[in-house]
Amino acid sequence: MSEGDTLERFDFPAHPIRGLRVRLNATWREALSHSDHPEPVQRLLGEAMAATALLTATLKFRGRLSLQIGGGGELGMLLVQCDHELHLRGTASHHPVAGGQLLEAARLSLTLEPLDQGRRYQGIVPLESPALAPAVEHYLAQSEQLPTRLWLAGGTGATAGLLLQRMPGEAADADAWNRLCRLAATVKDEELLELPTPLLLHRLFHEEDIRLFDSRAVSFRCGCSRRRVAGVLQGLGAAEVEEILAEQGQVEVTCEFCGRAYHFDAVDAALLFASEQPPVSAGRTRH
Ligand SMILES: [Zn+2]
Repeated sequence: MSEGDTLERFDFPAHPIRGLRVRLNATWREALSHSDHPEPVQRLLGEAMAATALLTATLKFRGRLSLQIGGGGELGMLLVQCDHELHLRGTASHHPVAGGQLLEAARLSLTLEPLDQGRRYQGIVPLESPALAPAVEHYLAQSEQLPTRLWLAGGTGATAGLLLQRMPGEAADADAWNRLCRLAATVKDEELLELPTPLLLHRLFHEEDIRLFDSRAVSFRCGCSRRRVAGVLQGLGAAEVEEILAEQGQVEVTCEFCGRAYHFDAVDAALLFASEQPPVSAGRTRH
């Protein structure tokens, strides 16, 4: 059950400042369930999932936001994706080396893919330490987004995040943004992970007027399907697929996000490429 997997929105009516708090339990565990990563990788994946959910919820769009960490170090690649309905999925690859660092000259990239018209947007910043929040803030500052601060915490079985964002508009109280950020920065990991949101907000901002809005469910959902995998195999080409069939008797593709395995035998493969052949006239039709 994903009862603990929620994203809550709040604001400070006296200031143009809004906030979000996310907590992930089952969603994170689902992403870890088919891998065997060491604790620092699990934690980084959890924090990346919390950060991606928070960032997605600040955007007014229909589509998908991807957060990717790649580059050097033992972490080969980490990819988290969240859609506008707060369906999250994430995966990481890890290659242990004696004396190796988890991250070396790694880079953080965020990619926005709107479903409707609108262009795909991607930005990249360096990620030198496993502390993800500063890198995300750096990215947001660099891409001229609204001033945004982020606090992330990973524990055993749960991961959580808090976000404050300064909205456009006149601030009657010029110091409010700095003050609220200072207060938020006092949050302890266990508070962020465990406290119910009303209590957390009271503990952090008890002298401020706060409105807490609706809670949204966040859940793990992988968009993989047999059809998409078939598309990937078609992309590989008949020769390559036949080679795998000859060696292994079947083609097995395992989704790296959810661990689901897709099998294609010789007959499936034949159908794959038979149906792929476009009718001869297709090339001449005009659209
Ligand atoms: Zn999948």
